[in-house]
Amino acid sequence: MRIAVAKEIEVGERRVALIPETVARLVKKGLEVWVEKGAGDRSFFTDEAYEAAGAKVVDDSAAIWGEADILLKVGLPQEREDGRQEIDLLKEGAVLIAFLNPLGVPEIAQKLADKKVTAFAIELIPRSSRAQSMDALSSQASVAGYKSVLIAAAALPKYFPMLTTAAGTIAPAKVFIMGAGVAGLQAIATARRLGAVVEAFDIRPAVKEEVQSLGAKFVEVQLNEETVAAGGYAKEISADARARTQEVVAEHIKNSDVVITTAQVQGKKAPLLVTEEMVAQMKPGSVIVDLAAEQGGNCARTEPGKDVQWHGVTIIGTINLPSSMPVHASQMYSKNLATLVQYLVKDNAINLDFADDIIDSACITHGGEIRNQRVRDALTAASATVGN
Ligand code: NAD
Repeated sequence: MRIAVAKEIEVGERRVALIPETVARLVKKGLEVWVEKGAGDRSFFTDEAYEAAGAKVVDDSAAIWGEADILLKVGLPQEREDGRQEIDLLKEGAVLIAFLNPLGVPEIAQKLADKKVTAFAIELIPRSSRAQSMDALSSQASVAGYKSVLIAAAALPKYFPMLTTAAGTIAPAKVFIMGAGVAGLQAIATARRLGAVVEAFDIRPAVKEEVQSLGAKFVEVQLNEETVAAGGYAKEISADARARTQEVVAEHIKNSDVVITTAQVQGKKAPLLVTEEMVAQMKPGSVIVDLAAEQGGNCARTEPGKDVQWHGVTIIGTINLPSSMPVHASQMYSKNLATLVQYLVKDNAINLDFADDIIDSACITHGGEIRNQRVRDALTAASATVGN
């Protein structure tokens, strides 16, 4: 069974799918691992380290893609410099595991099905305790949550902690975290460690205790509707609930030095939480970091990939923050992937037990079919839009 690690060719992607330490563990289990030459360069893992871990370093990307039984990658397959699609290099029956964004870019699933590739979208691993060690959404979101606070602290023209000095007393920064999922909770913990006073808000009432246990105040809004969907994800809320929420959070946003937004609704555009009026009410010098920038943004003035100045407020539309901390982001992703690989490989063969919810949920294509109903629906919706 040959596992191959492709070099990421997407501009700005610095992570690698497996790090040498994990390679050594897989090799010890009897798996053959090929790593594309230079795959770890941008995350500071050298070809020599992969070789020492027992991998074969291969200076031929077509061989990596074409001879893999299981191809591991971070982001979506790309078009290569020679104009060929990476997907087209995979052999029939190969397994591909990566962040495939099948609900956002469902066309990719069609291509993979046409190629008879068995594809696992790592973002569709269930968020259950059993699958926790394969949960790459969580591992990467926690990097993003941590880094968002450092970015905010660097952009804020103020201290985060309270200081009592001979030159006077400095008040601590006030930080408001909107959305207390994995990224939000890590942002709360990081902002607290830097000494800020932290408040947080989420439409899922269950997170209140977690927020409080991290030393932050939970901002409560009474919503008279169900806000949690299957799998523990947030639901899209009604216009009435949105208006109620905005009324309450407006005051907190106005009084904050830093607002970090992380709110997402799976498979949908990110909800708008911070309106233009709210930004305009903030003190000049305040900072907003929008972790949902790539999904449309939680703030009305967010521009993905840009720092915007508006009414004296800096709005930072972050993109792919995990890639900005590639050593630990890759380390955690590597552990997630290796756990999934070991889960799939039994007696040196791929064992696809679709009665298992982890495999059933994450495997989007197999045997020429798109297996996942939500992906099929997304594809139908996308073709309808193109047809219009
Ligand atoms: P996410 O990235 O989908 O969303 C981030 C947060 O935004 C969520 O907490 C969500 O409730 C919140 N949100 C959505 N709409 C909002 C709005 N209008 N206003 C304010 N907040 C809003 O979330 P995630 O971090 O991926 O977590 C999703 C779910 O998965 C959570 O229930 C989490 O507890 C659960 N989870 C479970 C496990 C596990 O059991 N192993 C691991 C990770 C996450």
